[in-house]
Formats: sequence, structure tokens, C-alpha cells
Amino acid sequence: MRKPVIAGNWKMHHAPEDARRFFGAFRPSWSGAQPDILIFPAAISFAAAQAALPDHPRVQLGVQNIHPEPHGAFTGELSAPMARAAGATHALAGHSERRHLFGESDRDAAAKARAAADAGLVPVLCVGETLDERKAGRAGEVIVRQLDAALAVLTPEVDVMIAYEPVWAIGTGETATPSDASGAHGILRRRLAEAWGGERAARVRILYGGSVNPRNAARLLASPDIDGVLVGGASLDPDSFARIAEAARP
Ligand code: PEP
Repeated sequence: MRKPVIAGNWKMHHAPEDARRFFGAFRPSWSGAQPDILIFPAAISFAAAQAALPDHPRVQLGVQNIHPEPHGAFTGELSAPMARAAGATHALAGHSERRHLFGESDRDAAAKARAAADAGLVPVLCVGETLDERKAGRAGEVIVRQLDAALAVLTPEVDVMIAYEPVWAIGTGETATPSDASGAHGILRRRLAEAWGGERAARVRILYGGSVNPRNAARLLASPDIDGVLVGGASLDPDSFARIAEAARP
């Protein structure tokens, strides 16, 4: 069985002191088995988050973005080996804000996922369709295209997570229904099975992201096709993120 993952993407929020305060107040109480908890702080707050991290192997930190090269003259960037050396375990690749605000292509996202894997980080590949693509009935085609770009450079040995994040649901208060999200997750898992075989595909955790909050998390996480959630806005508050973590099925 796939262990649930509750991931928080802090984006460009939470300075070092806020990161410390967050972990000081983050106290989920689980009745059953605990999910894996991932936080993606801003790079400048990574060390503060790490110093304040609860002493629990299930709580880990990732980076929101990496450059595909391991080092070089790329002012303002950070590399996967640097992130790994600093203690990160995961890296987002292809988040919709990177794709749509910073013009990153499917190939860029795939190159970052590959670079993360090469450095020993688990890439969390984000895929998702825009509202126009959804209205045009192209959601499945778009997410498969984004996944295929990554599958072209990743091998089945790589530990990878996928996050299905419809662009129209990110930061909008609109959430995909559990059945819509499950449908998309099914498409992605079938494509993974075609590429890597059913047994390997069955082990890949596929998260849903897009306006997840403490009120809708349990409903989404109850679906057997939804292995976890990637949370933006509602991950900034320790109580709200703890309630989402508590909603994960054992
Ligand atoms: C995200 O940024 O990955 C995200 C899902 O944001 P939000 O939860 O705020 O929609």
C-alpha cells in the first residue's frame, strides 16, 4: 500500500523566523499511522526550517526549484547537489507557477526532475491543465504530454512522485472533485504502467494539489487513487496544515 504524503509548498512566504515559528506550533495528533510530511520552504528559510524541524523521520524538507546544471555561472539559482548537501530530500519540478509565470517548458521540468534524481533527491513532478485546456476537453492529453517529457529522461529505478495540480484550482479556492482528481490520477498511473510496467507504476505516489484545505482534505484523501496532497496557501498556518495531515488515511 502507498503511504500518504502531505506536502506543503510555502512558495515566496515565510522568512526564517516564520519558519521557526511554524515548526514551533506544528503539532498534529494522529490516531493511526502517520503520513509522510514534506515542507518546501523558500530557499532562504531552508536552514531555519531545518533547525526547527520536529525530530521525526517522517518530516522532511524539499526545495521549490533547482537549476538543471550541478554548478556554474547562473546567478540566483541553486542546484540539486547543493540542495541535497544542505539536507533536502525532495525537489519540486514543473510547478505551474514555474511553467506559467517563468515560462518553463515540459523539457525544462523534465531536466530538473532528472537533475534532482541524479543528485539523490526525489523529484515531485507537477503536471496539470489550464482552464482553457480543460474546457477544450484536453486535460488528459496535456497531463500525459507533461508526464511523457519526464518519462523520456527518467528511468523506472528513479524514486519519483507526481503531483496532479490543475492550474485552475491553484490558489483559486476551486478544488477538483475527488472523482475528477481520481480520473486524472488514473490516466497518469495508466501512462506510467505503459512506460514502466504495472508493478512499478503501482508504487508511484500521485498527489493532488489545488486549493486543498482542512475542510476538503479528508474527502480527497479518502479516494484510493489520491496518495496525498500538495498544499499551498493552507500549508502556511501550522494548525491548518496539521488538520490536513490528520486527515490522511492510515
Ligand atoms: C500549490 O502551489 O501547489 C498549490 C496547490 O497551491 P494552493 O493550495 O494554494 O492552491
